[in-house]
Amino acid sequence: MVVGLGPGPAEWMTPEAGAAIKAASDVVGYGPYLDRLALRADQRTHRSDNRAELDRARLALKLAAEGRAVAVVSGGDPGVFAMAAAVFEAVEEDPRWLDLDIAVAPGVTAMQAAAARLGAPLGHDFCAISLSDNLKPWAMVERRLRAAAEGDFVIALYNPASRARPARIGEAFDLLRRIKGRSTPVAFARAVGRPDESLTLTTLGEADGKLADMATLVVVGSSETRFIARNGARPWMATPRAYGGGR
Ligand code: SAH
Repeated sequence: MVVGLGPGPAEWMTPEAGAAIKAASDVVGYGPYLDRLALRADQRTHRSDNRAELDRARLALKLAAEGRAVAVVSGGDPGVFAMAAAVFEAVEEDPRWLDLDIAVAPGVTAMQAAAARLGAPLGHDFCAISLSDNLKPWAMVERRLRAAAEGDFVIALYNPASRARPARIGEAFDLLRRIKGRSTPVAFARAVGRPDESLTLTTLGEADGKLADMATLVVVGSSETRFIARNGARPWMATPRAYGGGR
């Protein structure tokens, strides 16, 4: 079972995911995700760092082929920039793995959690782009950013920054500013659902890449996205259901 743990808090983990963890003899995943789970002493854990996804997928398939009940865990949804894709990338490598009983338990992905906190920024057409260029060339990221901006999508940016690539998010904002209006709403949603959660609202004209780190999801609005001011509280960020103000 490839299991999505959601963005952090237990309330954002599905009952199916919880049951899959309980039923597992072996839990495979990135160390910090395993630490979030209250595992029993009889459950074996297989920790890895967050880069070795394909090796982790192979290990999980190997254990499952030995008859173990394996849960491979991902934060958020396992199909969004995460382990489910790695498992299906590896599964064709050994003909015996094709006969395994593999299932995916979905999870709340970071962009849904962030959207819920912000209001309804994903209320109309949107897309998700990972800014990590570990697994694709940066030129591809730029091409997709340009296309998303020209298509006037709301854009959810995953993996906006890391220690190895602190400047990419700034480059992405520069590219988007050449196409989208400077008053476009932008949100930095950091560690959503965790004790150190923080939300920062700004505009594309003012957006500073330094506000993003590995735990941040950045939401860049469309031409229709707006902030709704409130008295004494953070504005809501919302994108109307109807395009062009018509209903
Ligand atoms: N499978 C995960 C995404 C993995 S990519 C999911 O569905 O959410 C890792 C990126 O997800 C991070 O760099 C960050 O952009 C985003 N992310 C994950 N958890 C987050 C959280 N609690 N708050 C904000 N962003 C988060």
